[in-house]
Amino acid sequence: MKYPEIIQNLINQFAKLPSIGPKSAERLVFHLLYRPQGELHDFSQAIDHLKENIKQCHICFNLSENNPCYICTNQKRDKNIICVVTKPQDVAIIEKTGSFEGVYHILGGNINPLENITPQKIKIKELLERIKYNNIKEIILALNPNMEGETTSLYLTKLIKQIPNIKITRLARGLPMGADLEYADEITLENALKERKEI
Ligand SMILES: [Zn+2]
Repeated sequence: MKYPEIIQNLINQFAKLPSIGPKSAERLVFHLLYRPQGELHDFSQAIDHLKENIKQCHICFNLSENNPCYICTNQKRDKNIICVVTKPQDVAIIEKTGSFEGVYHILGGNINPLENITPQKIKIKELLERIKYNNIKEIILALNPNMEGETTSLYLTKLIKQIPNIKITRLARGLPMGADLEYADEITLENALKERKEI
């Protein structure tokens, strides 16, 4: 072992995080070693409380401090337009554009046979039920412009088209192919949303 156990232990914890390799983990831990104790306390408290007060909205599956979430309970939002996204971070980035007034549906993943993510494992059944029992006018598919996102969009389109009187749209092209919605800049995303195309 290169370092005292306490240090090594924290390095191992950081190294479990996505896109943090052992080198970065080391750098982070040594950075923390030179921060004031109070700051470290706040940091560990924030991690400690992370999941305690976060709930999943039973309507849209977004993460929020309340269930239903602040978007589903907002009277000003148009409940007849649902924007379908992969994960909660996608909601945050679309909200940042400030140009969407409908509500969301978070699938919690994309269909990916290689990783054994079947349609049953994401919130598709729940979406179809939402459409069926509410007066939904438009479904915007805002999934990642990559293979899995495309597969999921096609799958959803086929199912939703069987429901009468519903418009299905998708974000306009312009988003970098193969990328994650998370990395799109606000202007590109705002335009992709405004110029969405009916399918
Ligand atoms: Zn919600």
